[in-house]
Amino acid sequence: MSVIVEQLTKQYQHQTAVNSISFEAHPGRIMGFLGPNGAGKSTTMKMLTGFIPPSSGKASVCGFDIVEQSLEVRKHIGYLPEHNPLYLEMYVKESLAFTAAMHKLKNPTKRIAEVIEMVGLNVEQHKKIGQLSKGYRQRVGLAQAIIHDPQVLILDEPTTGLDPNQLAEIRGLIKNIGKEKTVIFSTHIMQEVEAICDQVVIINKGLIVANDNTSNLKNLLSGGFTFYVEFDNSVSEEQLMTIESVNAVQQVNNHEWKLSSTADIRKQVFDFAKSNDLALLSSKQEESSLEDIFRNLTQ
Ligand code: ADP
Repeated sequence: MSVIVEQLTKQYQHQTAVNSISFEAHPGRIMGFLGPNGAGKSTTMKMLTGFIPPSSGKASVCGFDIVEQSLEVRKHIGYLPEHNPLYLEMYVKESLAFTAAMHKLKNPTKRIAEVIEMVGLNVEQHKKIGQLSKGYRQRVGLAQAIIHDPQVLILDEPTTGLDPNQLAEIRGLIKNIGKEKTVIFSTHIMQEVEAICDQVVIINKGLIVANDNTSNLKNLLSGGFTFYVEFDNSVSEEQLMTIESVNAVQQVNNHEWKLSSTADIRKQVFDFAKSNDLALLSSKQEESSLEDIFRNLTQ
C-alpha cells in the first residue's frame, strides 16, 4: 500500500520541473513534501495522481504503475489538489453524492454520512459549498478525497489559508487518517511538518535535497543547539571554548554570549560558571528548527 517513486522526471518544454527524483512513502507514516514555490511539488503530485504523464522514470501506487495502470492507481488514491476546485453551486451532500457516484460506491448514503462525520461537516452539511468558509470548503475537499476509502492520500497544501483553529482541526484529521493510510502532503509551513510528519522529503529546483525521518533530519542537519548566556563578569572566548561540545562562540553584548554546540550544554554551562566564580544572570537554549534546515538546504 506504498508509494514508490524511481527517477521520476517531468520536462516542460525547456524546463525540467522534476529531475529524476526517488523516494518512498509507506502506510502509518505521514510524509511531508516540502520545497519553496516552484520546486516541483505540485508537478510530482500531479504525476502520481495520473493528471499528467512523466517524461521519464517510474512510480507505483499500491503496486500499480502510474502510467500503465493509471485507472487502478486512481481507485487507490485520494487527491486534494492545491486550489481545491469545488462546484460552489452544489450542496455539500450533493457534491459528495456526485463523487461517490464517480467511484461507483455500493452504499453511498452510508458512506457520505460517515465521511461527513469524519471531517466534521455535520453542522454545515445542508449548505451550498459557496456558502461555506474556507476551512469548511477544505473539509469538503478532504471528504471527497477520502470517500472511496483510498489507501493513499495525496494532499497539495491542504492547510493554506486556514485560521489557527481550522489549522489545528485539519491537521488533527490528517494525522488521524495517517495512522493507517499512506499520506503525502505538501506544505511550506514548518511547524506543520514538525507537528504531524514522520518523514520529510525536501525538493528544491526539481531535485531531492533531503529525505529522512523528521527527528533524524533535525538532529543530522541542525548543527545542534544555540545557547544564549549572560554572566555577571567578563569571560574570554578561549575560556568558553573549553566547555564540552561547544564548537563556536560569539559575543552578543558585554557579558552576553551566544554558544553553538552539538549537544545540550545547560549543565556544562552551569558547572563552567561555578568553577570560574561567575554568576549566571540569564540563559536560554534553542534547538535549531526545521525552518533553519529548510533554509540551509534550499537557499
Ligand atoms: P511547486 O508546486 O513546488 O510550487 P510546481 O510543480 O507547480 O512547483 O512547478 C515547478 C516548476 O514547473 C515551476 O517553475 C513552474 O513554473 C513550472 N511549471 C509548472 N507547470 C507548468 C506547465 N504546465 N508548463 C510549464 N511550466 C510549468
